Amino acid sequence: MVYLGCHLTSAKGYEHMAKDAISIGADTLQFFTRNPRGGAAKDIDAADVDRFLKLSAQHDFGRIVAHAPYTLNPCSKEAKTREFAHMVMTDDLQRMEYVPGNYYNFHPGSHVGQGTETGIRMIADMLNDIMKSEQTTTVLLETMAGKGSEIGGRFEELRAIIDRVNLKDKIGVCLDTCHVHDAGYDIVNNLDGVLSEFDRVIGLSRLKALHINDSKNPMGAHKDRHACIGEGFLGKEAFIKVITHPLLQGLPCILETPQESLQGYGEEIKMLREMI
Ligand code: FE
Ligand code: FE
Ligand code: ZN
Repeated sequence: MVYLGCHLTSAKGYEHMAKDAISIGADTLQFFTRNPRGGAAKDIDAADVDRFLKLSAQHDFGRIVAHAPYTLNPCSKEAKTREFAHMVMTDDLQRMEYVPGNYYNFHPGSHVGQGTETGIRMIADMLNDIMKSEQTTTVLLETMAGKGSEIGGRFEELRAIIDRVNLKDKIGVCLDTCHVHDAGYDIVNNLDGVLSEFDRVIGLSRLKALHINDSKNPMGAHKDRHACIGEGFLGKEAFIKVITHPLLQGLPCILETPQESLQGYGEEIKMLREMI
């Protein structure tokens, strides 16, 4: 089995997120560590986190995924922008220790004309600066659609970052189905082939989580526009193959589909469970 969940608002705290997840039949979840545009994070309420940990244990949750603000760019041309990413991610990693042993996912960044190699070096340098041997969190690089100068549209780029990271046991990958499809990997007709390519280039042991999104654009479009499951170019069958794939069992699978309500996600999760 895989764990199924969706992106939830963290505005009302951890316990509230767990209750939202439980109410829609989810057994994992994702949330932004702060305003997705990178604003200040709310103070952590230890009692609230405690109630979250109890609830998630009672309901056999899989690991959960925190998502860094998507506006951070660790490989910006501007030192100030890189420093901002450094500061936010340092703070996020400290806060993650309240919910130990989970995942912190981020978009590697856009090299904005500096070249892929420079970008990769900047991302790895930042990670080596902010990751600590005592942290219990695994940092995840998200596979990207390869829009503009985005890094992470090729598995090779993620591998190159990982190669430069010192704390190898604390770095992994989150595979976004919409992004890899948009990047040109044919998970619709050749999921096995894409997974073996992932294994050859990165190693499947690094694959820690999935974002399960359909795509509004054809394979290779480099667009990154999510669609609801079954309403895009991937189609329902592709998701049955993904969530039942023997090599993907045990992973948290997070919906980031354009649902407008919690109930919408509930229906999507129910549909996925019925498909299994
Ligand atoms: Fe993302
Ligand atoms: Fe994603
Ligand atoms: Zn996306």
